[in-house]
Amino acid sequence: MNRVRVSTIHMFQGGEQQIIIFDSTEGIGLKTAPMLDDTKRDSDALRVLNVAMTRAKDKLYLVANTKRLLGELDRESLLSRIIRHFQQKAEYSESESLVDNYFTTDFEKWADALLAARSVDTQPVSGELYTERNFWAQFLQDIRGVQQRLMILSPFVSVNRAGTFMDYFRAMIGQGIDIRIYTRPLNQQVGEMASQSEIVVGQLRSIGVNVIERRNMHQKVAILDNDVAWEGSLNILSHRDSGEQMRRFTGQSAIEEIIRNLELLEEHAAGVQTSEPCPGPDGTGCKYNGYLVVRRNRRRGNRFLGCSSYPRCKYTRRL
Ligand SMILES: [Zn+2]
Repeated sequence: MNRVRVSTIHMFQGGEQQIIIFDSTEGIGLKTAPMLDDTKRDSDALRVLNVAMTRAKDKLYLVANTKRLLGELDRESLLSRIIRHFQQKAEYSESESLVDNYFTTDFEKWADALLAARSVDTQPVSGELYTERNFWAQFLQDIRGVQQRLMILSPFVSVNRAGTFMDYFRAMIGQGIDIRIYTRPLNQQVGEMASQSEIVVGQLRSIGVNVIERRNMHQKVAILDNDVAWEGSLNILSHRDSGEQMRRFTGQSAIEEIIRNLELLEEHAAGVQTSEPCPGPDGTGCKYNGYLVVRRNRRRGNRFLGCSSYPRCKYTRRL
């Protein structure tokens, strides 16, 4: 491995290597980098791609989501022409024949099966433990059976995973099913997840999903009517490929207990973030800009409203 050099194209300018592997790094959920698109103004794609294509002495490999790039790029752009040239002249392998899919194949496989097959005959035992390898098969099967209400607690949401559910959620809402999604508020998401969260929450609300933002929420749970509950470590709306466990419970009393413990149907549950900006302790505005009023719980169970930046801002108000 110490004979392998990994870097950006810019670092390979002027040099040559026996073998060059050029990865475009483009993928679903992001806009194609202007650096790769010479039809964009001020793009240095011509120079960059020229460097990428001319450093190899013996072999040149191109790693790319070709379907996506050909769809995104102008047909006459240089990268688009390079990809077509490779498709015609080079040896071609599907990435999935070499490595596991970056996205959970189990999810896609069963998401497709969800729309095709009708029922699984064997009834799983309550309390049975699943992993990310077999969770989706049962969970999506369960979702098909929802009649009235679906609740999902997923502290984090991603464009990719949540996006796969969007059409199905829309169809469920069209059938009058109440969908509630609990997630962490935007100001508790970091980096890339924050911008993804903003997009996903906006999309969910636009199709009629009731999104409840809860501070410090860490539970990963799904409750399907009063029939099935899932609880464990898998973020249903952002899971990609990590190893996780989920336990499946059935039986009305077990499910009602989970709903009660998590205060899922309570309007004034602790942690629920409102859309009201914090007015600040003296009413002249919150020093910590952008923080919202959040429902909080005092030790004896008295509920009140406070600033979501607490303890930095001490604003509170009785409920
Ligand atoms: Zn405040």
